[in-house]
Amino acid sequence: MIPISRPIITEEETAAVLAVLKSGQIVQGPVVEKLEQRFAELCGTKYAIAVNSGTAALHAAVHAIGIEPGDEVITTPFTFVASANCLLMAGAAPVFVDVDEKTFNINPARVEEAITPKTKAILAVNLYGQCADYEALSQIARKHGLKIVEDAAQSVAATFQGKTSGNLGDVGCFSLYATKNLTSGEGGVITTNDPDIYERALLFRHHGQKKGLRYEYYGLGYNYRLSDLHAAIAVTQMKRLSQMTQQRRENAARYTEAFQGLAGLITPVEASGSSHVFHQYTLRITDRAKQSRDELQTYLEKKAIQTQIYYPKALYDFPHLSAGKKEYDYSVTDKLTGEVISLPVHPLLSKDDVASIIENVINFFK
Ligand SMILES: *Cc1c(COP(=O)(O)O)cnc(C)c1O
Repeated sequence: MIPISRPIITEEETAAVLAVLKSGQIVQGPVVEKLEQRFAELCGTKYAIAVNSGTAALHAAVHAIGIEPGDEVITTPFTFVASANCLLMAGAAPVFVDVDEKTFNINPARVEEAITPKTKAILAVNLYGQCADYEALSQIARKHGLKIVEDAAQSVAATFQGKTSGNLGDVGCFSLYATKNLTSGEGGVITTNDPDIYERALLFRHHGQKKGLRYEYYGLGYNYRLSDLHAAIAVTQMKRLSQMTQQRRENAARYTEAFQGLAGLITPVEASGSSHVFHQYTLRITDRAKQSRDELQTYLEKKAIQTQIYYPKALYDFPHLSAGKKEYDYSVTDKLTGEVISLPVHPLLSKDDVASIIENVINFFK
């Protein structure tokens, strides 16, 4: 079976973890600090804070920008559930608006109609590894005095108009989960240029305590610390990040070239000014195709090719998030949930794997 994702763990990662184990300093320490420095350098931000998941990063970020119970935050319904759950965790209300058909990301043209006096922020997700349109979102945010949270869980090293993901809003949130482009097993990182957001996120990570001042609690906090054991994996991987990203882009380019002209198949679009890191390579199988998206999935499974549907349901179709569905038009999201299918695109695919996937997809359409 060609898996949809596979973490890259080399001897280098193993050695780095062993070195931490042998050092005796296994909780948050110098390796976490190194990871934070590397992330700030990568994103071009003043600050980076490592935490123990992408969800923790989102929760801390939402807290750090000052979201409070009763606030509304405008976001996308076409994403992983953590993107919206972090708002519920802060007592805030997600308000969903439809996505753009080409990029799968929040459609800035739909944001303004959803702004109310309670709106405090826009939470954009860089789905599948491509940044949302932060130029348009920033204009709206400035006009209405809103903050922007960037869910960059899928977009490490992606760029938008010359800026790197994590540096496109007021605060960026990464996940280092095992299936992400860069992993520490479990983990997350928050990036920002704002010293207040930085301080608030630091406190939130560590039970409201300041560094060197234990048992003095400056407000509600959690244990969202990352361990040096985990950080060692990601720090090691970061040396190969641009190579891994390049490999994903090359695999994606081969697919896109090979899949032109198949009726009912739409290949992913890289928006102008945007560099896509292909966390997922996601096709749309429209009703012009002779067979359905689900039939393609079954067909490829029989050929030992694993695919995945990210995401089969809009977030507003789950009871705990349904209040975020308003009277707006969600036709793009509702269409995409029935059309998308992601193929393996990760750097561990061999040339033969990619060729086999191409051949089988084309055969399905014949
Ligand atoms: C993976 C992911 C998260 C959550 O990250 P975890 O590390 O699993 O907590 C949040 N948002 C998006 C878009 C993701 O893909």
